Amino acid sequence: MTVQRGRRYREAREVLLRTATHCSYCTCEISTELPPTHPQKATADHIIPVAEGGTDDIENLIPACLLCNEKRGTLSVEAFTRLLSHDVEGFADGNW
Ligand SMILES: [Zn+2]
Repeated sequence: MTVQRGRRYREAREVLLRTATHCSYCTCEISTELPPTHPQKATADHIIPVAEGGTDDIENLIPACLLCNEKRGTLSVEAFTRLLSHDVEGFADGNW
């Protein structure tokens, strides 16, 4: 179960990020070529978190930079987008 789920996610992520050029949240440029800890590393973020019943299907994934992926945490996409629009400067500095 866990193994199948992981493979499904990896495949969906690969398809998603093949064409993704910008973060869905902060619109910064993202790339899969960057080191794993780079803030602009391309990641596939779950729209509905797995913990809340979200799937690993590509329909539930959106391209996001590593920074947004980590900052979003358990917030909904809507809540996070609202937060971003109110504090873009603080976000860019990483000083929330
Ligand atoms: Zn971002």
